[in-house]
Amino acid sequence: MAFSAHHDEDSVKEHFETDEQIESKARSLATQIRKSKHFIVFTGAGIATSAGVPDFRGPSGKWTLEAQGKRLQTSSQCTLQAIPTQAHMALVKLQHDGKLKYLVSQNCDGLHRRSGIDADCISELHGNSNREFCIRCGTEYLRDFRAVASHEKTVFNHRTGRRCALCRGDLHDSIVHFTESLPQIPKERAFDAARKADLCLVLGSSLTVTPANEVPEVVGQRRGAKLVICNLQKTPLDGLASTRIWAKADDLMVRVMQHLELSIPAFVLRRRLKLQLTPKARGCQLVITGLDVDDTPATFLQSVKVERRTAKTEPYIFELRDDLVSGVEFMIELQFMGHYGEPNLTLTHRYNGGWEDLQCSYLLSYSPQNASWTTSREAQPLSGQL
Ligand SMILES: [Zn+2]
Repeated sequence: MAFSAHHDEDSVKEHFETDEQIESKARSLATQIRKSKHFIVFTGAGIATSAGVPDFRGPSGKWTLEAQGKRLQTSSQCTLQAIPTQAHMALVKLQHDGKLKYLVSQNCDGLHRRSGIDADCISELHGNSNREFCIRCGTEYLRDFRAVASHEKTVFNHRTGRRCALCRGDLHDSIVHFTESLPQIPKERAFDAARKADLCLVLGSSLTVTPANEVPEVVGQRRGAKLVICNLQKTPLDGLASTRIWAKADDLMVRVMQHLELSIPAFVLRRRLKLQLTPKARGCQLVITGLDVDDTPATFLQSVKVERRTAKTEPYIFELRDDLVSGVEFMIELQFMGHYGEPNLTLTHRYNGGWEDLQCSYLLSYSPQNASWTTSREAQPLSGQL
């Protein structure tokens, strides 16, 4: 990727419309979304600023401050602790309702995936700081920590130092640096969605990074398709936009959802836990692994405790004294990474003699708003590899 435009003071300046203007444009956008057959959204750093994730080119953005010789004060924890914004959650609702067909994002903060967007319906064009992958077999891993190669070596060395649980291949981070090309599959899927789109909404991007900005450009250049740009700063594609909205992403999306008569769901962190019990000559073995909602292996636990024994490395393996007889129960204590202050959770798994109790999974849902966990046993058999 590379910059496509010259940056001066004017390009950094933020413009705001009045509430009435935003309201009127939100009403019109809601009508367009309702009528659209293939609605896509393209997001940039501006969608996440209200979540506490710094943008790049705003007045206090990363690059603006660096150009002034200042450094942005952030901690690497900040994106892990960020709560997805109302705009993020509005997109989750629009996707689950079938209105949003595809999402293309330039953001590396991982917030779209964490907010609940389906992995199949998003291209993270510049990567995800919580996602790494095996260069040998392609298996992806999500981590509740920053899974980015150390900058002390060189940014172009993507090796994270961890290995694939399936084939022991090297894991690489998914971050795309300037001058590097975009990952092939997310790029193809993004452009494919753009070619089909009859409506594209840009949320919080200054559209100055190529070739990512060619995705909304494809829609803007096509006859009959509409490009709507919501960003506080000017963009090089403003001339192609059928509607230009100078508003914060949340201010627009809250209004759009009201006009669509859809409520914005509260953020819930969803994780899954896979349990595998194997009878042994004496006792049994219990293997516990973490998964994301779409079966991607996910690291979100610090430790797991079963029968006073604690395991701290994945997969969590316990050799237990209990024989696998019907009615035996296992108390599993989970300690999380705790970025959202989530407390430990104790899960009781009961073996009732059926094969479905030997291999099963639980959905774990945490609401930061209520600081509480809910768990449910999943009915479907697991399809994951691990
Ligand atoms: Zn592998």
